[in-house]
Amino acid sequence: TPRVFSGIQPSGGLTLGNYLGAIKRFVDMQDTGIETLYCMVDLHAITVWQDPAALRRQTRELAAGYIAAGLDPAKSLLFNQSQVPEHAQLGWIFNCVARMGWMSRMTQFKDKAGKNRENASLGLFAYPALMAADILVYHATHVPVGEDQKQHIELTRDVAAKFNHDYGVDFFPMTEPVIEGAATRVMSLRDGSKKMSKSDPSPASRINMTDDADAIAKKIRKAKTDPDALPSEAQGLEDRPEARNLVNIFAGLADMKVDHVLADFGGKQFSDFKPALIDLAVSKLAPISTEMDRLMQHPDEIDRILTKGATRARQIAAPILAQTYEIVGMVGPK
Ligand code: ATP
Ligand code: MG
Repeated sequence: TPRVFSGIQPSGGLTLGNYLGAIKRFVDMQDTGIETLYCMVDLHAITVWQDPAALRRQTRELAAGYIAAGLDPAKSLLFNQSQVPEHAQLGWIFNCVARMGWMSRMTQFKDKAGKNRENASLGLFAYPALMAADILVYHATHVPVGEDQKQHIELTRDVAAKFNHDYGVDFFPMTEPVIEGAATRVMSLRDGSKKMSKSDPSPASRINMTDDADAIAKKIRKAKTDPDALPSEAQGLEDRPEARNLVNIFAGLADMKVDHVLADFGGKQFSDFKPALIDLAVSKLAPISTEMDRLMQHPDEIDRILTKGATRARQIAAPILAQTYEIVGMVGPK
């Protein structure tokens, strides 16, 4: 049976990239009738240093972001990774299945560890094994993610295949990444070759879900572009990363195909396109940030929703973990 799982790290404020690449699509999948589980992956967030008070706030803010964007806790399970200990427990088993060489090839590790690899946390290196556990502890079949997570989903499949092979079972499914839409890789507004990220040191590089109309307008007005008019076909964007990024963002926010956006704006200058993009972004994002603010006034309510979600998630995860232990040969209660 199909089951959807995905997660976002409470490692900073939500960005437009997280919204278009992840949350907006989580909401779309929630309404297909398939079982959906969405997570705040706080155990992943601490692979790089997080101030405890900030982590707590960011986790609740992320939950508020999910709900404000349309995630309905009555339809989707919404919870915090650390409240479902089965993730970390299966993560350990997968640390023993995954190989050092696989992890060394992960581009996210190389990017985040930077030059000083000796000083990166062991958790940052092992991150993809825990991510495989996040997914497979529910036997999830589909994982909506942005383009940057494709390599980790491939590794999840490698872990499942090696586990099944080593133990001679057909237990973990081959999970499919779901990378769809016009904005699967939103780029930095300052540098068209860099992904927009929560953790980018430059606030001007990203639009945050909590930005007000003025901040959104300012950042788009200042976004890097080139001097040419927009082309009338997607092909004309190939060597223009900044222009392509803004067109993709427009298409993602408007739920339009890139070709349709260019049919409207081909031949126009950025001085025409940017104000239209600002109007669109403000009209889509401002109501979400207003609702996030409202929800953040009721942290106890958020915590209650997360506790409920975690209880239901454990009901799925616990028997799968127990079966895994049995397969591996751990002696347990009779
Ligand atoms: P960090 O910089 O801490 O890694 P992040 O912004 O990359 O933060 P994640 O929590 O790592 O956010 O990713 C959550 C989801 O958002 C993933 O599915 C990821 O693919 C997606 N995502 C992140 N950034 C982008 C982006 N720029 N464009 C599209 N999707 C994105
Ligand atoms: Mg990331």
